[in-house]
Formats: sequence, C-alpha cells, structure tokens
Amino acid sequence: MASGFIDKARITVRAGNGGNGAVAFHREKYIANGGPDGGDGGRGGNIVLVVDDNMSTLMDFRYKRKYVAPNGQDGSGARCHGKNGEDLVIKVPRGTLVRDAETNEIIKDMSDKEPYILCKGGRGGWGNMHFATPTRQVPRFAKGGLPGQAHDVVLELKLLADVGLIGFPNVGKSTLLSVVSKAQPKIANYHFTTLYPNLGVVWVDDGVSFVMADIPGIIEGASEGAGLGHDFLRHIDRCRLLVHVVDVSGIEGRDPVEDFDAINEELKQYSPELATRPQIVAANKVDIMEDPENLERLRAHVEGLGYQFFEMSAAAHQGTRELVKKVAGELANLPPVTVYEPEYVPREPVIDYSAPLDIQRADDGTWLIEGAWLQRVMSNTNFSDYESRMYFDKCLRDAGLYTRLEEMGIEDGDIVSLYDFEFEYQR
Ligand code: GDP
Ligand code: MG
Repeated sequence: MASGFIDKARITVRAGNGGNGAVAFHREKYIANGGPDGGDGGRGGNIVLVVDDNMSTLMDFRYKRKYVAPNGQDGSGARCHGKNGEDLVIKVPRGTLVRDAETNEIIKDMSDKEPYILCKGGRGGWGNMHFATPTRQVPRFAKGGLPGQAHDVVLELKLLADVGLIGFPNVGKSTLLSVVSKAQPKIANYHFTTLYPNLGVVWVDDGVSFVMADIPGIIEGASEGAGLGHDFLRHIDRCRLLVHVVDVSGIEGRDPVEDFDAINEELKQYSPELATRPQIVAANKVDIMEDPENLERLRAHVEGLGYQFFEMSAAAHQGTRELVKKVAGELANLPPVTVYEPEYVPREPVIDYSAPLDIQRADDGTWLIEGAWLQRVMSNTNFSDYESRMYFDKCLRDAGLYTRLEEMGIEDGDIVSLYDFEFEYQR
C-alpha cells in the first residue's frame, strides 16, 4: 500500500550535556594573587515538543529519527558563564501521543498549545570561583557538566476530532466533509480513495463549530488487520460522536442494512467501547435512489436499534445542514474529546554500586570524587534533610569509598568534594 500517511514513528531524543566549569585565576597588573574566577558551564539544551497545526502526519519522522540538542558551552575565566545550549524544538501534529518505546506507556498527549519538555538538558558544572574557602584560596579544580536526559520514544498520531465519519468506502464520507467544511478531501468514484484522514472544521452558527474527521473506509475484517482501515480506527478513538454514512442508492448492488451491521461489527471487534459511542446514521445518495425500499428498511432497522436517522444527498447538499445542526446539538451534551493522562513513571535506574568511583587529589589536597552512579544518587538527595544525608552517607560507605580513601591516606579535616557538595572528612 503506497500510502503517504505515516502515523507512527520511533525516534531517539537526547538533551544537551552541561558544559564544564572553568579553572581560572584573576590576573591584573600590580595585584599579586588574583582569586579564582573560573565561570560555570552552560546548561545543555532541552528537547521540547510543540504542537504544529500545519502538520497532519508524522511523515517527517520517517526520515529523521535522531534528535540531539546542543551541549552547554564550558565556562571560562573572568567568571564567564558558558552559553546555555539552545532548546531543540520538535514540532508534532496535534493529537500525537508520546510513548515510552520500551513499555509503551503514555508519556504525554500533545493535544494543547503548551510546549512539553521531554528531556532536560544537563546542568553545567561549577567553575572554581565557587570553591574558594578561607582555608583553600587557590582551588585548582572545577566540576564537569552533567549529562542531558535521553529517551527512546514512539510517536503515535491519534487525531483530535469531535466527530468521526464511518462507513464503507465510496458511500460519500469525503463528499460530506467537503460540503460541510472547508476541507478538501479527495473524492472519487472508486473504493479506498481516502488514504489518510482529513480534518475539517464545521461552522454551525453563532460561533459554534466542531471538528469532523474523515478516515479511510473501514472494510470487513479491518479490526483483525485484514486490510486498510484497521490502522485508521484509532483515529476515531477520541471522537465524541460518530456519523455512520450508508449508501442507500442501491446502485452498487449493496444492501444498506448488511453494510450498517458489518461496520458496527467491525467497530465492536476493534473496541467494544467504541461500538457504544453515540452514533447518528446518515443514509446518503437519496438523489439517485432507484427504490425507496432500501431507505425504509434501513430506517426501520436503525431506529429499532435506537439510533437517530437522517436521509441526505451529500453531493446535492440536501439534508446536510439538518444533519450538522443535529450533530452540534448532540455535542453540546457530550463530554469533551478524550485527552490521555500520562502513564509513564520514570523508573529508578538500577544503580551499579560496583562501578568504582573516580578519586583524584587536587593540588590543594582536596579529594575529588566522581562517578556516574554518584550523580544519580546525589540528584535524589536532599542535603538539607538529615535522613536523606544519612542515607547518602550509607551509600558512600557501602560502595567502599571510605575504605579506599583511608587506603590512599586521607586524614581528618581533609576536604572531600563530590560535584557541588563538599564535606570535611572525619573518621
Ligand atoms: P467515501 O469513500 O465514503 O469518502 O466516498 P466519496 O465521498 O469519495 O464518494 C464516492 C463517490 O460517491 C463519488 O463519486 C461521489 O461524487 C459520490 N457521491 C457522494 N455522495 C453522493 C450523493 O449524495 N449522491 C450521489 N449521486 N453521489 C454521491
Ligand atoms: Mg473518502
């Protein structure tokens, strides 16, 4: 199927890393010992998602799958802060669900105008200007920037429309949409003309409007993936109401009652919940109807099942106004379009305490400790809270840090520096 419509894509995104802090000292003529003035590294750029209403497919993501925001720049002397990395803004069509690629959980439903920060850039490291103390006036070290967040996500488009048109191919769904809105879907007298969903805004009156979606025709077996249609059913998942278009002209030798039941059976197979969504039935092509018997049989069948029934000729603009008014009236009493709540809970990364920490001795005697897991533990530690501090201390002890420092000759009163936290060592 050479459909140009792409409504699912897997991409990798990575926010920028923080820049490194600088080691520098103030220099000026006639001033012998300038203080430390190494500036901080800049923050890495975030990955930000925004809705773009000019987009209607995820096609762009078929060709570009990796998105990396720029890193923050390193700090420099004279207290110069490194430039922050610019945010990388990724545009998506309205109604795009962002899912975790591993668990498929919804991270975010991109349905409104608010930009969403999917990955945060890493913080910049502190320059040495922060590390001067009365006892350590010449700090010859600075901190490295932290890595930016990264994520593998699946984007999935689920259109946002109040009303979904359903029915067999060629019954006149696209024609109806083109008549009641400014949308210009392809209309042609052969099956499967609609290869991707179309959205149109239907203006009723007095500022009342609703959005109508024309999805490719459902065919029997679609819910089992037999053909085109299955992929498209999810685009009506959010719809508040369905308009079921049935061809009653009889010119194709189809039986409208059988068609009606077949489509509803497909809906039920796909989602029992969707099959109970409010539905209005529109019997189309009455202008070329050869025998009104079809129309009346369908009317009796449908009304017997409790559905509202309209007859129309979309092509001749007959009965379409009445249908639109009825739909608007119903919508006024229905709940708003579904917006999905996030399900994704960021998992605590499994911490590998066996990965050795990097211990270095700065020129001034400060013990500098670094390590990937240390960053993670620290970002979860509230250093102004006693319990939290005690737990942090236990992590370091369990990891064998103190034993190693002892072996390397640490003494009471030495300064131990862990990223932006420092303490005086006491046995
Ligand atoms: P869809 O596949 O359900 O979207 O059907 P289309 O809107 O593409 O219409 C299929 C064919 O039926 C086209 O040739 C339309 O011009 C024709 N058609 C649609 N509505 C009517 C109608 O009310 N009367 C007549 N005579 N033809 C119609
Ligand atoms: Mg169509």
